[in-house]
Amino acid sequence: MGRGKKRILTGDRPTGRLHLGHYVGSLQNRVKLQDDYETFILIADAQALTDHFEHPEILLKNIREVTRDYLSVGISPEKCTIFVQSMIPEIAELAVFYLNLVTVARLQRNPTVKDEMKQKGFEGNLPTGFLVYPVHQAADITAFKADLVPVGKDQLPMIEQTNEIVRRFNSLYKKVLIEPEGLVGDVSRLPGTDGQGKMSKSIGNAIYLSDDEKTVQKKVMSMYTDPTRLRASDPGHVEGNPVFTYHDAFNPDKDEVADLKERYRQGKVGDVEVKKKLIVALNLFLGPIRERRVEYMGDDQRIDEILIAGTQEARSVARETMDQVRSAMQIDYPFFKKKSVKEALKSPNRLNQSFF
Ligand code: ATP
Ligand code: MG
Repeated sequence: MGRGKKRILTGDRPTGRLHLGHYVGSLQNRVKLQDDYETFILIADAQALTDHFEHPEILLKNIREVTRDYLSVGISPEKCTIFVQSMIPEIAELAVFYLNLVTVARLQRNPTVKDEMKQKGFEGNLPTGFLVYPVHQAADITAFKADLVPVGKDQLPMIEQTNEIVRRFNSLYKKVLIEPEGLVGDVSRLPGTDGQGKMSKSIGNAIYLSDDEKTVQKKVMSMYTDPTRLRASDPGHVEGNPVFTYHDAFNPDKDEVADLKERYRQGKVGDVEVKKKLIVALNLFLGPIRERRVEYMGDDQRIDEILIAGTQEARSVARETMDQVRSAMQIDYPFFKKKSVKEALKSPNRLNQSFF
């Protein structure tokens, strides 16, 4: 089947507002590629529940916040299809069939799942839904026959898992699914302000795209730097120092960054000066994003309309894939194909009529 543009599928969990890590890891590529690719952006509420199932009440607010973040960085709802995962039942359906193609041992070997299990304290009482989330991600990606998936480095094992499922499905049944490629951003894994791991919504080590100037200032001033350096006159380490990672990622004045690094290594500049310059750079970067965000503040209706239109569009694409998958698996039973039966299944109260 010939298709026009190639497709992108990518997304985020509505577990909080989006942060600088999302920007460099994935959002930036989405904005850059939205003219050249047919872009589907999924708000992964079902996946968020795999570790937030006790707090489903966070989803509604965060679905809207994440959508605002998209619009504020320049993702255009005219160019991209933004939709809510749990409203596409075909994704859950696909996942059920894919689960047969993956072993438990394979999922347990997934390095990201392993890291996250540790971080969330799931060792010993792992929810099944969490263990199988990579399979659900394979369903997300393949439902839209995506060619490209802009993601942070932590998600690359999921693309690998998806490709294994695609190959297995295509060779076992029929070549219907497409193997996607991952595309990591300029910074594949931005560290958190705590310097401990990746910047993450769930850990409290993030600078959000919607943080105001004061908040950015406070967060940067309390950032982790070089633990081996006790005085400003001690030679410091630039590598692995998140303050410099942020300078590299967000400070457009490359000469200033080079000069700061040089002086830091020689013990000729203190953390405070380096941080103050970072605050200026971050606020410069975030300024236009904040301004655009104001346009959508308080306007839930506009946000909801974007999500409804996107979900409707996404559903029709996923349905098409699902039909092909059912046919490939020979589970498109002929007696369910009759129009009258299909109609009746949509309204169960008519089920006792005769269809033949
Ligand atoms: P959570 O803590 O709820 O898992 P998160 O901050 O990890 O939230 P996700 O919604 O899981 O964010 O990730 C969305 C996308 O952003 C993924 O492609 C992920 O790889 C990317 N991403 C998240 N954090 C970073 C980061 N620190 N650096 C680069 N990319 C990131
Ligand atoms: Mg995550």
